[in-house]
Amino acid sequence: MASEELIKRLEATIENIPDFPIPGIQFKDISPIFLDPKLYEDVIGDLVKFSRGKVDAVCGIESRGYLFGIAVAVALDVPFILIRKKGKLPPPVISEKYDLEYGSAEIETREGQIKKGQKILIHDDLLATGGTTEAAAKLVQKQGADVVQFSFLIGLKDLNGEEKLRKFGADIYSILQY
Ligand code: AMP
Repeated sequence: MASEELIKRLEATIENIPDFPIPGIQFKDISPIFLDPKLYEDVIGDLVKFSRGKVDAVCGIESRGYLFGIAVAVALDVPFILIRKKGKLPPPVISEKYDLEYGSAEIETREGQIKKGQKILIHDDLLATGGTTEAAAKLVQKQGADVVQFSFLIGLKDLNGEEKLRKFGADIYSILQY
């Protein structure tokens, strides 16, 4: 969906850092995007094009999901809801636990910010295994809202994150696929 030109500019800007934060991980650093305001604006424009007229609210996943998610929500003129790691938001909160490779984690939203029946876009910077995004979608569903879209800047194909998200029946969009 994104133009070839936008994809090329993004590929030239996002940095690949091998073996960070642990050996074997190819870390995609999106921070250079913020050095180029025009590129940032075009990324937001592309994400907005995917979601315009389709969603009632945007949920962003801590923390890099906020960097683009808020701008998308403002452009769409819909609410933005923070999905945070456990213990960061004041009560009352709604929580969802999920398994990590070792141990487990928990994410939360403030109670009452997601409304029943809302059509929700879940946004994050990068889709890897899909574990975090899957938990975010369950957290949204638990509150009686519908997950209708997922968007990412980057999807890591080999990790099959999209497979994990298919059961939600929502549209999935990554600007770049690696
Ligand atoms: P996952 O739950 O495996 O889909 O992991 C997704 C989250 O981990 C996202 O919030 C990403 O910001 C972060 N992440 C996972 N893998 C990478 C990577 N290779 N480069 C940068 N961020 C990553």
